[in-house]
Amino acid sequence: MTRITILRINHRPFRDKRITTHVALTARAFGASKILIDSEDSELEATLNKVSENFGGDFNIKSGVKWKSELTKFDGVKVHLTMYGLPVAKVIDEIRKETENRDLMIIVGASKVPPEVYDGSSYNVSITNQPISEVSALAILLDRYFGGSELETAFQGRLNIHPTAKGKEVRILPKEDECIRILKKQGADEKLLKHSKAVRDLAVKMASLIGADQKIVSIGALLHDIGKTRTDGIDHAFAGSQILEDNNIDERIVKLVQRHTGAGISMGEAKSLGLPEINFMPESVEEKIVALANNLISGDTRITIEQLLDGYRKKGLNDQAERILQLHRYLSELCNKDIDKI
Ligand code: SAM
Repeated sequence: MTRITILRINHRPFRDKRITTHVALTARAFGASKILIDSEDSELEATLNKVSENFGGDFNIKSGVKWKSELTKFDGVKVHLTMYGLPVAKVIDEIRKETENRDLMIIVGASKVPPEVYDGSSYNVSITNQPISEVSALAILLDRYFGGSELETAFQGRLNIHPTAKGKEVRILPKEDECIRILKKQGADEKLLKHSKAVRDLAVKMASLIGADQKIVSIGALLHDIGKTRTDGIDHAFAGSQILEDNNIDERIVKLVQRHTGAGISMGEAKSLGLPEINFMPESVEEKIVALANNLISGDTRITIEQLLDGYRKKGLNDQAERILQLHRYLSELCNKDIDKI
């Protein structure tokens, strides 16, 4: 995949901080992976790193670079954005083709750009021949380059915006230490914490073998029994999902928690158990992993599928036992390994 680096030339921290921040934010949001800035600016670095920490992605920022040496040593296609260059519509297809197997550097100035940049670039590209802001020039270049697809990027940060017609809706994907704080705040005791961590450890092992989303699995596993701070019954999964919903936790975690009991509960079963008539069946692979891991951890002790099934059958829960066995087989196949041996 083509990696896009922005080279910001002539950044003056006392004068350009805000505009260079916006260049960097635009670069990050529109599909670039890195920005190099030619003057040391630790404040700017910290701002961008905080944005990535909250909103996700692995955007890299480095200030205090020597722009000449970065430009010379860059082994890829170099595009200098300037109002004096060739119109973007004329060259964008060629640039896209040339970067099929090569990286791309985009050079943007802050003040007057020296002639070496014009000479040292593969393309001098204009977004109109009128003077405009480097932020808009960069956004339009990247949007033309990606044909709009960059706007669909899923960043998956700690904070995720839910688009709404009015107002603001932000969902949180907490970090592990935050999960423990949330559990404790809801009144989780040591036993519940130990169980949740043991389920997390097994679930993450399965997720890494399968290539599932380890973040969702570890957070979901840590929070799966949060409803037990309210009720010990079969309704604890629903109670947990309500607690998380009230705390604006990411929808994927809410659903995972709601669907973790046994190997799932169908809508019909939910009705007869006195639960709301909603879907309690694990659907995504992450939901299935946590549901099974929870079954294979009793307290904080690992048990085998046979020990687990014995317990279910003794209670006459044969259909549930069969469903769990199927889940165990399904995930063992995905892991390419018998889960009892993990
Ligand atoms: N006066 C400076 C010069 O002559 O190089 C330009 C300063 S301008 C505010 C900052 C940067 O915005 C430029 O270096 C260029 O990268 C970008 N820029 C401004 N207008 C542009 C345009 N019409 N097309 C492409 N890039 C533009």
